[in-house]
Parts: sequence; C-alpha cells; structure tokens
Amino acid sequence: MHNESLIQENMLVTLRSRFFTLQVTSLLQAPQFISPKNPLLSLSHKLQMFETPKLNLHYCNHASFATKGSKPGPVSETKKFIEKVLFVPPGVDPEEVTDDLILPGSNIVLGPYAGDAKIKEVEFVKSSNRPKDCPKDDRPEFAMLGRSNVGKSSLINALVRKKEVALTSKKPGKTQLINHFLVNRSWYIVDLPGYGFANAPEAARMDWSAFTKGYFLNRETLVSVLLLVDASVPPQKIDLDCANWLGRNNIPMTLVFTKCDKMKGGKAKRPDENIRNFQQLIRENYKRHPPWIMTSSMTGLGRDELLLHLSQLRNYWNNE
Ligand code: GDP
Repeated sequence: MHNESLIQENMLVTLRSRFFTLQVTSLLQAPQFISPKNPLLSLSHKLQMFETPKLNLHYCNHASFATKGSKPGPVSETKKFIEKVLFVPPGVDPEEVTDDLILPGSNIVLGPYAGDAKIKEVEFVKSSNRPKDCPKDDRPEFAMLGRSNVGKSSLINALVRKKEVALTSKKPGKTQLINHFLVNRSWYIVDLPGYGFANAPEAARMDWSAFTKGYFLNRETLVSVLLLVDASVPPQKIDLDCANWLGRNNIPMTLVFTKCDKMKGGKAKRPDENIRNFQQLIRENYKRHPPWIMTSSMTGLGRDELLLHLSQLRNYWNNE
C-alpha cells in the first residue's frame, strides 16, 4: 500500500495538479463566504466557498475511518473545518492537508491509498434484470447513476477509452438493466438505468425507484455511487432528491459534474455557477460535503483524477 511506486505516482499527479488546482479554485470561489470575521482566513481560499451545513447526515463510511483506532481527543477548529468541506480519505491527517494534495477540479484529497488508476482492460460481463441477478463475487464496484442524457454513456466510454462500451438503450421503461463492466479483472463499473426522463410515463419512473433502490440497499460490494449531475443546467430537484436519498440511506456517493466544457450563450449560467448552486443546496442536508469532481467527456477534464479517486476508495475497501 505504502510502497514507493504508489508514492511516486501520487507525487507526479500532485505536481501536475498544482497549476489546475489554483485555476479551479479561483473559478469556483464564492466571495460571499469570505468574511473578515472568519478565524480560518489563513486557510486556502478554496475552503472558503463552503459554509457550515445544517443537518447531520452521515454520508460516507470512509469518512469515519480517518480516526479509527485513535482515542477521541480535542479536535482543532482547522481539522473540523477541513473535514467538513474536503473529502479527506483514510490515512490522511486533516491537519496536514495542503493545496497540492487536492485533486484539480474537485474537493478530493489524495492519500496513501491512491494508485493503480490505469484502465488496462475492460470487459462487458452481463446485464441483469434484477439486483439479485448481478454477478456474485466479491470484487468492488462503483455504480454510475444520473438523469437520462446526463452524459453517463459518454463518461463510461471516456473512462475506459473505448467507443461505445456503454451501449445501453436510452428508452426509459424498456431497458431496466444493470450493466456490469469488469475493469482490469479486479473491479466493476456498473451502469444503472437513467432516471427522470422528461417523457417517461409516471409508471416508468416508479419502476426505476423500486428497481434501483433495491440494488443500492442490497449490494454488499458497492463501494460508492457516482451520481452524475449535468453542470450545463441549473440544479434539478430530481438530482437533489436522489443525493438526499443516498445520504439518508448511508450510501457513499461522489458527485460527478458532467459537461463542464459546455458554455451556453445568452443568460444561461456557466457550469461553474451551476455547480456552486448545486453544492449550496447539497450543504443544506450534508454535515460533511461529499466528494465532488468536475468532468467533461469532450475534453477529458477530470478523467484521470476521477480514476485516482476511485483507486483510493477501492484500495481502502480491499484492505478494510
Ligand atoms: P446518457 O443518456 O446519460 O448516457 O447520455 P449520453 O452520454 O448519451 O450524452 C447525452 C448527450 O450529451 C449527447 O448528445 C452527448 O454528446 C452529450 N454529452 C455527453 N457528455 C458531454 C460532455 O462532456 N460535454 C458536452 N458538451 N456534451 C456532452
């Protein structure tokens, strides 16, 4: 886990990320949260785009690991603050987080579990009609979820660098299938049916709920859900409902913002504004902000970073 090659790989990524981190920081910074009364002004500006959330939804079992084994002691304000706004993975002391450990275009801190992020081979395994028909082995998996047209198929294809790996039909109610793709023979990407299709009859939406919720609640090898959110449109209630449902059910989630390259003309808001608005709404329900990352399947933005994030979740899961 802590071997030299992993550490070297991390350092390379870290160095590469410095420049972009600064760029994204200024892009997403929300000046309204910067107050001269804030005692934490000495921290990175990045952290000041967050505010204190109100409810106490425990979203992610990884978050509790950081203190596992250590006796509870006094927690510094800095540590509490960082834990609230950044995704600090197991093995990282929140007090030692620096800007260059944060993956560009995200709130994700790189830790010692990051590594082996390359995709060497990918194989379609099966489509399952019911959660109980899914592959029965103990390999970890990540489920990709989002509204129809959010860019899920494009992202899966961009991640595995193959065209049309994700060939799921777009017609809601027709293909209620859970598609398993095996990566490097060691972990799965799972393509779930899209939800909230504008033209879907109510019955199809209901089917989705029962079908997909059953999968989330019963799949023991599910490491995390990647909830895809279209950054080219303002926050949608159905996405927020979905995020909140996952939170209430303690299902770990990463918010993956898609189409971050897409600038619409006129009065439409830019992706960074939509992302900021979405995050503001998420903070109303989450005590700790879930990991989030900006991506574009068109430009490749966030691809390598997302894979690194998945690798550290996976490696921790494998060693838990
Ligand atoms: P799915 O229904 O969630 O699988 O969505 P698709 O992957 O089929 O994408 C839906 C539409 O969004 C298609 O027209 C894609 O070309 C477009 N799209 C997907 N990803 C991106 C992206 O990163 N940037 C832009 N500009 N368009 C995208």
